[in-house]
Amino acid sequence: MRPTGAPPWRWPSSPSPGRNPTPVKRGMKVFVTRTLPGKALDRLRERGLEVEVHRGLFLPKAELLKRVEGAVGLIPTVEDRIDAEVMDRAKGLKVIACYSVGVDHVDLEAARERGIRVTHTPGVLTEATADLTLALLLAVARRVVEGAAYARDGLWRAWHPELLLGLDLQGLTLGLVGMGRIGQAVAKRALAFGMRVVYHARTPKPLPYPFLSLEELLKEADVVSLHTPLTPETHRLLNRERLFAMKRGAILINTARGALVDTEALVEALRGHLFGAGLDVTDPEPLPQDHPLYRLPNAVITPHIGSAGRTTRERMAEVAVENLLAVLEGREPPNPVV
Ligand code: NAP
Repeated sequence: MRPTGAPPWRWPSSPSPGRNPTPVKRGMKVFVTRTLPGKALDRLRERGLEVEVHRGLFLPKAELLKRVEGAVGLIPTVEDRIDAEVMDRAKGLKVIACYSVGVDHVDLEAARERGIRVTHTPGVLTEATADLTLALLLAVARRVVEGAAYARDGLWRAWHPELLLGLDLQGLTLGLVGMGRIGQAVAKRALAFGMRVVYHARTPKPLPYPFLSLEELLKEADVVSLHTPLTPETHRLLNRERLFAMKRGAILINTARGALVDTEALVEALRGHLFGAGLDVTDPEPLPQDHPLYRLPNAVITPHIGSAGRTTRERMAEVAVENLLAVLEGREPPNPVV
């Protein structure tokens, strides 16, 4: 479990010089921290690399430290915190090819200092994550999860005009915080539902939606949806003050990173101020079973499955493998972070 409110890693101040490229040699070790869907890892085996895959659901830090020893390449998931200690155990490590677009689980500055390249998988998971954002929005606004439980629990006795009334999306204002790949894909979908779109990002874009300050957006939006990376600047971006600055009866959707939001304050806001929240990511993550969020009927929580379409997850593996091979072969990787 990630610690509550742990600040994200230091962000690098300058690009990594990269350790000297080493031609791929037979038997060089690549450690993959989980099994991945598809056949992408076969490409590494075909190149003669020794691919070691952790097959369990969890990878405790002690085991990560042991198994990374001797690896030149590492493919971690969002749940593996890759810090300086991990990097120092893997003395010959040249590349950390993240199986995600978010890289807040990697100490990027430590990687840069050690000349280790870090790559990620942008783009291939955009549509899947935007789909899940809309799924959560519809689930919260139309009380889908509550309704399903109501029916399954035998409470459905009659049709009634006032049963499980929710919010109509048509005509609501969607405020997107972060307007990169996923934010823009969500905007397109929202338009199809008749929503009005406004957004906030670091810089205005040549897009047909109004650019607002975060404070203006929170005041105007009926739905706020988060799509920024987790960085030192965005950590707890939605603090208590901002959560309560949202419109009374508004919805919060978070498919970005849990630590963008003050979880304790969100629980309070959901007890009267907000209509509901749809969360694919939480802080801490995974959310412990006894967490108060699970007891709120207006909170819909999914276990970080934003990119969990089979095709998407296979493509993420292909992109991670291509990035990893590029670094080991001395080529510039297609998706560098550091
Ligand atoms: P992206 O294309 O890089 O877009 C990020 C957006 O965030 C940009 O518009 C950027 O603004 C904005 N931003 C960055 N720092 C900001 C700040 N301090 N204040 C306001 N806006 C800020 O990233 P993406 O591909 O859309 O992915 C976004 C995030 O979604 C990822 O980093 C990841 O953490 C998360 N994600 C989650 C899942 C999941 O499974 N739930 C799946 C995929 C991604 P500018 O354009 O002005 O720079």
